[in-house]
Amino acid sequence: MKQLKIYNGNLITPYRIVKSGSVLMEGNKILEVSTGDIEAPNAEPIDATGKYIAPGFIDIHVHGGGGYDFMDGSMEAFLRIAETHARYGTTAMTPTTLTSNKEDLFKTLNYYEEANKVNTQGSQFLGMHLEGPYFALSQRGAQDPRYIRDPDPDEYKAVLDYSSSIARWSAAPELTGAIEFGRYLRSKGVLAAVAHTDAIYEEVLEAFENGYTLATHFYSSMSGVSRRNAHRFAGVVESGYLIDEMDVEIIAVAYICQPPYLSLFIRSREPIALH
Ligand SMILES: [Zn+2]
Repeated sequence: MKQLKIYNGNLITPYRIVKSGSVLMEGNKILEVSTGDIEAPNAEPIDATGKYIAPGFIDIHVHGGGGYDFMDGSMEAFLRIAETHARYGTTAMTPTTLTSNKEDLFKTLNYYEEANKVNTQGSQFLGMHLEGPYFALSQRGAQDPRYIRDPDPDEYKAVLDYSSSIARWSAAPELTGAIEFGRYLRSKGVLAAVAHTDAIYEEVLEAFENGYTLATHFYSSMSGVSRRNAHRFAGVVESGYLIDEMDVEIIAVAYICQPPYLSLFIRSREPIALH
């Protein structure tokens, strides 16, 4: 199998940055990582010319990029978004929907399938992330309030029957029927995530025990400590800290500082709408 060697780069490892490091790969396997050059006469060499050699980013919540949105209603949008993010280091992603009507959701799922078959240049698709429509109206953020509602078993079962490409579904766990929904998602191997929610700690804990193991865009569109009838309750933010096994997703915007113009910051990737 063909070998590939990337050398002369600042190698980012989990522990430190190695100056003038090298990586040797065969197929999609890393064979060797070195602090210097690697002797591999049969490998195709790529000189990193002192730039960073880093693992690819995996974006688990992305709505668009390059001027496109996944809900644009075209296969082209999927492909262009994937190519845009690949240029900035994202090697895999879960395309994310917005709360919408059923027709637009099904169309988007179709375009995902089509795009996934021909996506050879962009970030790899890992499955769809459905954001909504089962959210708390009070925490809707940028989600369209016209479509926000409680989980409906007939509806979500039909969606999951229609597409086998759904990897994750974000919902508010305090809604009527949301715990049953979490259990159903878990039975189908779909990651349930708490999002756009006004839940208190006890509700999040019950949700966690029933499949909701991730908090979507931590801190954003979710409850903190709230007061009800003279008592204070921990919210979703506190739950994210209190429940050890709960994963949290953060909205990370990276900036590159360009010395010597320390006050000038340049966005390392195109801004996208955050929901
Ligand atoms: Zn959101």
